[in-house]
Amino acid sequence: MADKKKDIRALTKEQLREFFVKEGDKAFRGNQVYEWLWSKGAHVFEDMTNISKETRQMLQDNFVINHISVDTMQRSSDGTVKNAVRLHDGLIVESVLIPTETRTTACVSSQVGCSLDCKFCATARLKRMRNLNPDEIYDQVVAIDKESKLYFNRPLSNIVFMGMGEPLMNYNNVIKAIDKITSPEGLGMSPKRIVVSTSGVPKMIKKMADDDVKFNLAVSLHSAIDEVRTTIMPFNKTFPLKDLKEALEHWYEKTQRKITYEYVVWNGINDSIKDIEALVRFCKYVPCKVNIIEYNPIDDGEFQQASNQAIDDYIRILERNNIVVNVRRSRGKDIDAACGQLANKS
Ligand code: SAH
Repeated sequence: MADKKKDIRALTKEQLREFFVKEGDKAFRGNQVYEWLWSKGAHVFEDMTNISKETRQMLQDNFVINHISVDTMQRSSDGTVKNAVRLHDGLIVESVLIPTETRTTACVSSQVGCSLDCKFCATARLKRMRNLNPDEIYDQVVAIDKESKLYFNRPLSNIVFMGMGEPLMNYNNVIKAIDKITSPEGLGMSPKRIVVSTSGVPKMIKKMADDDVKFNLAVSLHSAIDEVRTTIMPFNKTFPLKDLKEALEHWYEKTQRKITYEYVVWNGINDSIKDIEALVRFCKYVPCKVNIIEYNPIDDGEFQQASNQAIDDYIRILERNNIVVNVRRSRGKDIDAACGQLANKS
């Protein structure tokens, strides 16, 4: 029965090699098949032309190759591309290609929906359906790399885990996907060009540091005052700022890599001098920079982007304290592809 067959892409290279040895073949056959599955992106066994017909049939009898397919693709007037990606079980996630003058960035999803409940994020309303498998994360990157070559004549240069889901709540699979993305047998990308963005799960930030990962870390901070942060990101009650601080100190101690704080400024929520001063204090804990991101409205006005005056105050006071701050304009808003807008609307 087809549905009893195992997904061959769940096997490691070593397991594939062992499988072939058990079948009376050479371990090397495992390397060949592995290459077809990962570097060459084969979706059917028939495509594996340097493997004998009998072997392909034997694989066909034992395994399936689960893979994603791009269900719909939308292009924004600013060049941003959004893919609605269909998974093997019919569920949909979204990923985004963001082109700029100097780079093309893939924004990928790590979960179907999200278990966190950030009040300003469209994905939070979907609830978490399931974690993505490593290959489902990897395949989103491959699909975007192809689109980048097709539309912009250049390969993908950067990856951010800022799509749907909380990457640190699907840690093992995210790590396995990044291993494939960075390995020469996968896409061979440098981990320095990868950013994992988290709403801040202290235990997992520490684990990541202990695992000696080589990619960069971004934290969606949005407020450095517990009471404020808990109103907009209710899980902050479970993971308060003091635990986050401690985890970030551990991260820096182990990795020596700066942290990026993502920060949206909202009218009447975090736009006072008191909020800015709290952020300045938080920024002193570990070397960091602040990205102020534009709010992408998802509802009927419960949250509103703060005034330019408030943003200017943030910039001025942060800079006066020698904290690096960038203001990020949103891309792809016309197709609901901007931060926090991914909600499978179409
Ligand atoms: N769960 C991870 C990654 C997904 S969210 C995290 O929280 O970091 C990616 C980024 O988009 C986060 O910084 C998040 O705070 C931000 N974001 C969510 N909703 C947004 C919205 N409506 N407008 C602007 N940014 C938003």
